[in-house]
Amino acid sequence: MAPMKTAAVTTPATTTTTTTPVTTTALLQNVQSTLSKSLDTSLNVIGKQLQTLGVNLPQDQQEKLSMAVGLTGVGATLYILNKICSKIMRMLTLPKPSFAKKDYDVVIVGGGIGGCALGSALSKAGKNVLVLERDMSEPDRIIGELLQPGGVQHLKDLGLGHCLEGIDAARVFGYQVFYGDEQVNLPYPADSNSKVGEKVEGRSFHYGRFIMNLRRACEQDGAKILERTVVSLIEKTPGLIEGVQYKEGDATVEATGNIVVVCNGAGSSYTRQVRSDKVGSGNKPLVVSQFIGLELAASADKLPRPNHGNVFLLPDAPCLLYPNSTTTVRCLIDFPDGDANKLPKRGEEMAKYLLEYIMPHLPENLHESFKAEVDAGRIKVVQNREMPGETPESLTKKGVVLIGDAMNCRHPITGGGMTVTFSDCKELVKAIVQIKDLNCVSEVDEAIQSFYVNRSKVASTINILANALYSIFAPPSGSKSWEAYKSEGKKPDALSNNDSMSIMRRAVFGYFKKGGICQTGPLSLLSGIWHSPYGLIAHFFSVAVIGSVDLIKEGGILGIFGSIYKSLKMITGATTLIAPLIAEERLLSCIFPGFIWRRKPLPHHQK
Ligand SMILES: Cc1cc2nc3c(=O)[nH]c(=O)nc-3n(C[C@H](O)[C@H](O)[C@H](O)COP(=O)(O)OP(=O)(O)OC[C@H]3O[C@@H](n4cnc5c(N)ncnc54)[C@H](O)[C@@H]3O)c2cc1C
Repeated sequence: MAPMKTAAVTTPATTTTTTTPVTTTALLQNVQSTLSKSLDTSLNVIGKQLQTLGVNLPQDQQEKLSMAVGLTGVGATLYILNKICSKIMRMLTLPKPSFAKKDYDVVIVGGGIGGCALGSALSKAGKNVLVLERDMSEPDRIIGELLQPGGVQHLKDLGLGHCLEGIDAARVFGYQVFYGDEQVNLPYPADSNSKVGEKVEGRSFHYGRFIMNLRRACEQDGAKILERTVVSLIEKTPGLIEGVQYKEGDATVEATGNIVVVCNGAGSSYTRQVRSDKVGSGNKPLVVSQFIGLELAASADKLPRPNHGNVFLLPDAPCLLYPNSTTTVRCLIDFPDGDANKLPKRGEEMAKYLLEYIMPHLPENLHESFKAEVDAGRIKVVQNREMPGETPESLTKKGVVLIGDAMNCRHPITGGGMTVTFSDCKELVKAIVQIKDLNCVSEVDEAIQSFYVNRSKVASTINILANALYSIFAPPSGSKSWEAYKSEGKKPDALSNNDSMSIMRRAVFGYFKKGGICQTGPLSLLSGIWHSPYGLIAHFFSVAVIGSVDLIKEGGILGIFGSIYKSLKMITGATTLIAPLIAEERLLSCIFPGFIWRRKPLPHHQK
């Protein structure tokens, strides 16, 4: 970047010393008159073309239409020129690598979901890979437990399907959603490869058991895994990452690699080092809520719908219950505030929150095991973060690539994180195996950029769906209702709320109940087997439109004005919710430019 900056600074300085203000004005007038002449000519040409096409409009309207067409053309030309310029700039600013031979082709920071899957796949592709993991013992964390059918398929494509064996994983067939007294079953859609109409299936398990299988597979496939904590990235030439430093006892050791993959989970400090903060919520994830997690013993067959994700749309936020083995059930209660200080304090207050405020909404036959966990104090809390994915523009260093939660996280409500990570591993392997010379910085850089572009279809679909669904299922008031209950003992009634998201929540539930494509479409997107951000946007707006029609029908003639008002509120709310999410994913960037539609954190979101 340095040479570029110098050029940009010296050029205007030279101009001011050699040119007088008069000549500058004359020059500007010249440029302006040339531009307006060419604009007039272009508008005339466009006008004539329109006439040839049979568009005969009055003169003033013809001019306006020509102007609109002309400006679109100018916009498109500027867009293409901008793309070409940034490509050239990127080539010109490539740092020069040191020519010392590297220790490894690829060094991976973190032996979690992404690090192990990538390490295994690259080793099988003949690459010399080092994986550094700070703790090789079996993790006991409540992340990554429900793998969607799309994720199961990606795992199989990576040759790691066997890692789901021998871990007491439960089969998952879809969802059951509860809203007030109503419920709806949402089965996963049919498997397009099955001739007898079998449905696709997910798997759910303990993260720790699955990780241990992945680590074993990664090592058996040829990667070297060391239990070491990475302490920094090596950047001797500014802008180029050429390896990592890790701790070995008291000593600091270096491992160099042609490509360094940062994959050490959400909140990684290396994300901030290699990525600019200009996109969406920036290079630091936004903590939008927290999960309070319990594991209910011997309860898998007591779930209202066994082998399904059971989702309860509670007044403040959703609560999820799903089997995380063939016998146990994971219960995740979303606390809709990212601030750890707002969370009920462990002990009496937490027990009051769980037993008085939450438990009455859950099925009675689960109360005993739920209460047993609360009484024993076996409660875990995890932060739920959101961070938009990397784009070729936001990565500021060469030789390094981010994957997994270190690069992109979405709310875990849809259990999409592992599916995105496995899909990213597949794309990254494809990009890396195509590199002919791993020492060539420009070739590596091109491959990394193509990875960021190619990953986006799968990732954007899952990201937008998860973040939009969470916003709809958790009203924007955060934890205010709980605070009111704590001080005044007043329970909230979300069913009568009339803010735009509560209306949308009723519309989403109504949409699911219609069945047919209103179920198979959203479930294909959620299960990760249909990768279409545009399909998602179409379903999203269908919810708002069909929901509005239902509202108007319900309201009847007498309530028509109230229904129209609510419908407009819902459609406006839906648009202001989805637009920043689309912008963050860099979709339809000409309609939703990221710099305008940057997502504004709510007061209860923590950065
Ligand atoms: C509450 C919660 C629930 C979730 N539930 C689901 C779900 O049901 N389904 C789903 O698909 N996704 C779920 N996710 C998301 C999913 O867990 C992640 O997307 C996935 O684990 C990302 O994998 P990763 O490899 O990036 O990170 P991780 O799996 O977190 O692995 C990172 C690894 O890096 C290691 N590490 C960290 N720092 C260093 C260092 N300096 N040196 C060496 N090693 C280091 C860590 O020890 C860890 O092993 C959930 C997330 C959360 C927060």
